[in-house]
Parts: sequence; structure tokens; C-alpha cells
Amino acid sequence: MPELWGIDLGGTKIEGAILPSVRDPNPILRTRIDTEAHKGYPHIIDQIGKLIDLMKEQSGLKPTKIGFGTPGVLDPILKTMKNCNSTALNGMPLKQDLEKKLNVEIELANDANCFALAETHWGAVKQHTPDARMVFGIIMGTGVGGGLVYDGHVWSGRHGIAGEWGHNYLDESGGLCYCGKIGCVETVISGPGTERFYYSLTGHKIRLKEIMANYQSGADPAATKTIERLCFYFGKAASVLTNMLDPDVIIVGGGVGNIDALYKQGIDSLREHIFNNRLDVPVLKPSLGDSAGVFGAAALVNS
Ligand SMILES: [Zn+2]
Repeated sequence: MPELWGIDLGGTKIEGAILPSVRDPNPILRTRIDTEAHKGYPHIIDQIGKLIDLMKEQSGLKPTKIGFGTPGVLDPILKTMKNCNSTALNGMPLKQDLEKKLNVEIELANDANCFALAETHWGAVKQHTPDARMVFGIIMGTGVGGGLVYDGHVWSGRHGIAGEWGHNYLDESGGLCYCGKIGCVETVISGPGTERFYYSLTGHKIRLKEIMANYQSGADPAATKTIERLCFYFGKAASVLTNMLDPDVIIVGGGVGNIDALYKQGIDSLREHIFNNRLDVPVLKPSLGDSAGVFGAAALVNS
């Protein structure tokens, strides 16, 4: 088996890693370069080319296939990118352009899928639920995304949107979403959604970290209300995907995913809302940290 080459294409950085194999994920090489997305799409392609050249030079290896984690997804029919928050990529035939530029086979998946895949192969899923067949990976941060891994492979779906629970309807109180709909999961339980709710109670604009600190001190009733609401709606939203897919494990990443209360009150709310008399599905914290993106991209080579 050749080495696994992975690239995590982010809004500010492009990160690359070469892993020996699925069995041995200790990187041979790991490096990064600025995306400079403001300079436009052709420049992003050039930056990726530059990074791959650098990786070849430093490792003395040549890839035959490269996995890419991207902010949005490749439309399986149109073959162009969509739903990217790095908007320069939207509408662009990224896979085709990269294959032309790099002269290798390219496998693309969105960053939530890469996160779920990395945690499945090498992270918390592997450690705690190694027999899991269906893994649902959640990323809760500035936005709310999700990815689905089935039998060790990304399941991307007919439209390429499998797992995109962040834009399911949750509650009117979230207000208008950038996607054009009202009350999406993302508007209610993302970092900004949570901060907006606190602001609506107090008139104070403070960051999620401060809300958390206030919640832990117990001295700020608005912070308590905000985190209780977050946990309630997290469980309610996760119950929909649990009823639909009944995954073997749910893994929660992203900045909001660090909040401990999600793993107590959030799970209590999930138990309350699912169509079952008990809750068996483990809800786990990830173990790979920031590495999950680039590791998951590398794991795509194996798909
Ligand atoms: Zn939306």
C-alpha cells in the first residue's frame, strides 16, 4: 500500500500530512501554507500546488492519490463545489482542476466527514466503540455541520449532503439563517447562535467562553439559562438524526462541542426526545483535536 496523502483545505491555512498507512498513522511529514483565499480561486489552486511540491521535496515521496478535506461539498451531479464558507470555491470544479494541476487521483469530502473518518480510524470511536458500523460526526462551532461514516467509509449521499443536520429545522427562535430558511439547528446551537441568545437576555455582547465561565461560577442566571437552552436544543436536534439513522456512536467536535454540559444535560435531553424508552448510543468527545481534519483527508485515500 502506498502512503496516505491528506490535505485539509481551510479558509486561512492549507495543511498537508503524509501517513504511512491506516495501521500506522504517525505522520512522515506534516506542513502548512497560507490559503490567501482573498486572492481568488486560481490562487488557492496554486497554493495547493506549492504545498504538494514542498511535501514531495521534503519527503522524497510521490503521491498516486490525494485526499482533500474541504469546507463544502462536491455536488455529485454537477461536479462543482457548493455550501462552502470559503465562498471562492463555490461553483468551481475543484476536483477536476486539482487532478489537472497535480496529475493524480483526487478524493474530496467535507471537513465534517473527514473529522468523523479520522475519529473512526484512529480516535475516540476506535478507542471506545471499535465495533461501530455507523458513526455520526458533529462539528459545532461557528456553524453546525455533520458527517456520516458507514463501515469505515464516508457516506456522502445522492446530493452530497448526507449528515447536514445543521440546516434541519429546529426552532423559530434561531431566526433567519444565511441559507435562507428560518430556525435552522445552526442558528440555535452554534457559537454565534448561543451568544445571540445571551445578548437577547442581557443586552451584553460577550463570547461563548465568558458565558461558559459565568455558567460555571453559577452567579449569572442568564448564562445558566443560555447553557441550559443550548443543552436542551442540542438533545432535541440530535434526537432527529438518531431517529432517522440510529447511529452506533455520535462524536461531537468543534468549539461548542467542548462544553461539558452537553455530555450530561445534552444527553439527558437527547434521551427525553428520541423515540425509544432508553438511550444506548454513546455521545463522545473527540480525541484527535485539530489533527482530525488532515488525518481524515488522508484516510480518504483508503476509500
Ligand atoms: Zn440554514
